[in-house]
Amino acid sequence: MRILLVGPPGAGKGTQATLLSEQLGVEHISTGDIFRAHVEGETELGQQVKKYLDAGALVPDEVTNAMVAQRLTEEVCRGGFLLDGFPRTLSQAEALEALLRNRDCEIDTVLAFDVPEEQLVQRLLARGRADDTEEVIRHRQRLYDRETAPLLDFYADRLVTVPAVGSVPEVMTRALDALRTRA
Ligand code: AMP
Repeated sequence: MRILLVGPPGAGKGTQATLLSEQLGVEHISTGDIFRAHVEGETELGQQVKKYLDAGALVPDEVTNAMVAQRLTEEVCRGGFLLDGFPRTLSQAEALEALLRNRDCEIDTVLAFDVPEEQLVQRLLARGRADDTEEVIRHRQRLYDRETAPLLDFYADRLVTVPAVGSVPEVMTRALDALRTRA
């Protein structure tokens, strides 16, 4: 199973991605987690991307695409994966399609997490991550609308919308049901 999770910041993608990948036995690949680990580890990549994470800006596509290409080995493709936080731009989606076509493993399903906008800021402020100040949150949300929301059209043929309001187990059950409808 090869799945993408798409949704605005604060939709609960990270939490659900962890649970769903465990349930489904597939690799969880979160570009945000990978970047944060590099920043914490003060690696060369971490030093390169820290300013983007701090500002809630997108890391340049070529950096992000190269990192994902490294993670999506043929073995990972065969075993299945769940991508969380990538792609975030049309150009990333196109790069991903080309990479997967090359590896002969296409995305089966795109889960679009849907949450009313007024709930998003509240959830993020409650989370309290370093990049969760109100100003940075608003910036990330504008970027989502401008850069990431067009992916919903790009993936229209594989898209399933999951209402992501409710408890964590409720949303997980809905997501698993949505995946079953696609199987
Ligand atoms: P996330 O954990 O998905 O909210 O990502 C945290 C931060 O990592 C984002 O605000 C970006 O700075 C960076 N990031 C994560 N994924 C991507 C991506 N696909 N493209 C560019 N930047 C990304």
